Amino acid sequence: MKSSNRFGCDLLVLSPHSDDAEIGLGGTLALFAHRGAKTWAVDLTQGELGTNATVPERWSEAESASAALGLTGRAQLELPDGFIDPADRLQVEVVVSVIRSLRPRWVVTAPEPYRHPDHVATPRLVAKACFMAQLLSLQPDPPVIGLWSGGASWPEPAEVWQVDTLLSVCPASEKPSLFFDISETWEIKKQALACYASQFDSGGDRRPTPINDPDFLLRIERRARNWGRRAGCDFAEAFQTESAPVLNGLPTGRWSE
Ligand SMILES: [Zn+2]
Repeated sequence: MKSSNRFGCDLLVLSPHSDDAEIGLGGTLALFAHRGAKTWAVDLTQGELGTNATVPERWSEAESASAALGLTGRAQLELPDGFIDPADRLQVEVVVSVIRSLRPRWVVTAPEPYRHPDHVATPRLVAKACFMAQLLSLQPDPPVIGLWSGGASWPEPAEVWQVDTLLSVCPASEKPSLFFDISETWEIKKQALACYASQFDSGGDRRPTPINDPDFLLRIERRARNWGRRAGCDFAEAFQTESAPVLNGLPTGRWSE
């Protein structure tokens, strides 16, 4: 997979909190990086409402996970944790500016829209921003951005940008549009998740949460194995999209059952 000159990056994942990208598509991000593709993760909030860990601690964990995955870059925005809102013009404009700066071919939202209000609101906010990023008359000011020190620098925004396709992480109960076989990067996904000790490890004086239950990482593994069974491989991640691919020949990949 080669990066096109026209595109600033091949895949941009936009998620509300800094562990969402790793949970939803850590294996796919590592796979793309191994193939030489440019991948960016942008966390919309600093996770300031999180039960455990301070904002700097969470960002430091995100930096370690970014290095483990081989991301091209990672940035953190300052949208309000818990109050992601697609009806908020300023929030839409922030995401428009991010899309125009990174010029992604694919945008993926993670994790699945489930339980947490930010997880429900993020796919709607991002879909709206992908549309608005094409409108020349909308020229918002660049947002405040925290940048991972191990990654690429932040590019100047293009005037407008059109994303090829928008995907979201597929919920367990729904029908995927496509799978990525992450068998070769499954261990890297686990390493990236292990960087988030404050979120997934209930040791010390941390308060219990739904994700630091010891079963949570096992559930992620079970999910990847289940999708893998459907896809005919050991481990897979699944995505949904409203788009259809445009082909001019038989695809080289195989089809799931
Ligand atoms: Zn989250």
